Amino acid sequence: MRSLSELHQSIAACTLCPLSQTRTRTVPGEGPPQPKIMLVGEAPGRNEDETGRPFCGAAGKKLDMLLESAGLSREDVFITSVVKCRPPENRVPTLEEAFTCKNNYLFEQIKILQPKIIGLMGRTAIAHVLENEKIDLEKMHGKILEKNGQQYAILYHPAAMIYNQKLVETMKQDFALFSVKK
Ligand code: URA
Repeated sequence: MRSLSELHQSIAACTLCPLSQTRTRTVPGEGPPQPKIMLVGEAPGRNEDETGRPFCGAAGKKLDMLLESAGLSREDVFITSVVKCRPPENRVPTLEEAFTCKNNYLFEQIKILQPKIIGLMGRTAIAHVLENEKIDLEKMHGKILEKNGQQYAILYHPAAMIYNQKLVETMKQDFALFSVKK
């Protein structure tokens, strides 16, 4: 198996889907080499595309707040997204983009990192990682599912609270499930 840095070098050179033509930088993800917790979002946005770092814009501030409320910091978690390049205008990644990126990179990251639990943040991460479109986020958020021996936490995307302040307390409660996993 490749090392994480070898895998991230292939991501940096990737031309497998059209997002490679419009990206500024790839955003492979970052965190400790043996994380107990991995978090997966949807796709890089403008700030991430400029810096190459995950969740460094407005959604990232919300994520930092949620981590802090669970007694965690960025050093405790490996953070990435389903696709590693910014979709133009921040549109949702197409099925083909997500399929290509997860099968070439995300699933290998998970194999290398072997986290105890993977937090799936938002519908794109939930549908693509679990390969199940039927999971109802409203009903399932804050719950832990097990698939093929891997634990997954079902979570709203941190950006959801930018649009809906009412979700702040709910999301803090959901993130509290990680405090026992640290
Ligand atoms: N939203 C995501 O899903 N991922 C990022 O890296 C940034 C914002």
